[in-house]
Amino acid sequence: MRVLKFGGTSMGDESTWRKVLDIIRNYEQPFVIVSATARTTRQLWAVAEQALHDRQEAAKSAGKIRERHENIITNFLKNVPDSSQTIANDCLSWIEEKTQKLESYLDQIYEQKELNPQTKDAVAAIGEQLSSYLFVKCGEVYGLPAVWIDAADVIRTDSDFGQAAPDTDFINKKATSVLDMNAGRIPVMGGYYGQDADGNTTTLGFEGSDYSASLIGAALSVEAIEIWTDVSGIYTCDPRVIADARPIAELSFQEATELAYFGAKVLHPSTTKPASQKQIPVWVKNIFEPDQPGTRISHETHPGGRVKAMTFKENCVVITITSQNTVMGYEFLAGVFEILRWHHLPVDVVTTTEASVSIAIEKNNGINKAIEQLETYGTVDLKPGQGIISLVGCNTNNAQLLVTNVLKDINSASVNLISFSQSKGNLNVVLDKELVIPSVRAIHKRIFG
Ligand code: ADP
Ligand code: MG
Repeated sequence: MRVLKFGGTSMGDESTWRKVLDIIRNYEQPFVIVSATARTTRQLWAVAEQALHDRQEAAKSAGKIRERHENIITNFLKNVPDSSQTIANDCLSWIEEKTQKLESYLDQIYEQKELNPQTKDAVAAIGEQLSSYLFVKCGEVYGLPAVWIDAADVIRTDSDFGQAAPDTDFINKKATSVLDMNAGRIPVMGGYYGQDADGNTTTLGFEGSDYSASLIGAALSVEAIEIWTDVSGIYTCDPRVIADARPIAELSFQEATELAYFGAKVLHPSTTKPASQKQIPVWVKNIFEPDQPGTRISHETHPGGRVKAMTFKENCVVITITSQNTVMGYEFLAGVFEILRWHHLPVDVVTTTEASVSIAIEKNNGINKAIEQLETYGTVDLKPGQGIISLVGCNTNNAQLLVTNVLKDINSASVNLISFSQSKGNLNVVLDKELVIPSVRAIHKRIFG
């Protein structure tokens, strides 16, 4: 058995839905995870924000989301000769029901003038609740024995809204029983969302559908997890920025995780964890070029050239905390990291000096509150407008030359922090944001060109 996950672009419109169904048809017994239709999650968030101050505009935007789903269904069914009116009605009333639900959240947000993480999750999950159910109905008329699985029943999480942690014991049991109850059918579940023990909707974090796929894959000990998207694998760099980036045939779990963590948008950073624990290979494949091999991520490590891949982030800040005492103690470091933990701020790059610590992190809503607290430990200096370039899978035999060359390609005067791990083959350079893209181009050309 394989888990197949289809992302937002794959769920873009009726023509990609057909492509996806044609792919699913080739598998004997898949478990399918789908994202919301393209751009829907972002739009749902925007609608919720709008409802804080302009209820009418929010209603208009909600109407657009509804309309887009209605169009997909109408266009899809139009092209299937003997689809019945019953299916069309079923789909339209599902869309109506979810729109009503969205409207009632918008009322609540408008009346209370508050959008808390719990409501934000409930609103965001509507995207996958729509896409997954409608996709099952289209699958049925397309001749596939698809069955809808509500992720709320399977993906049990804690109540950390916005980035909930899965309860894997519960998920393992539930996924197995879902499979038993639906023998001979193709389960289709929305990714990204789940439910806590009190019945509240939660989400696994932005782009969390990859993570859902990996959790289900691990729960069912499948033979492979396939992440289907709009590019033929994980590339040496984001192909949208580097035109001659090329797909990498094989990556280790660790290399893929690092790429995801340091900004390669193609995979959610937690995706590899459940798969790696169960030693299940993860494939990244392209719905538009299904015959391309894509990338295989597994436990095996394959020596690459000088570097396996590179990635970047453009929206970071560097926070430097200088201890008031002359000697930097472990209390100081522990205190600083405890604050970051409390605010869920994942650290990208750290460097220390005798009395200070500098931390590069991605900009995020929690930062200001964290800074207030950090000020109790010393003076805090903030450097906004930063980016990070990360090289993953560096061949450690030639590390010195590599670092020298990378720095040559960047205007060294603008480099703010550097970290290099020989054992992990990982080089991170923090620099002024404006220089990220030109430097990435130069480095990619030197290493992969
Ligand atoms: P999906 O909607 O299928 O989840 P995503 O947009 O999340 O798709 O991920 C696919 C996109 O990730 C690609 O279109 C590509 O632009 C981007 N991307 C960024 N870095 C990389 C990389 N190193 N390799 C491949 N794709 C990348
Ligand atoms: Mg994605």
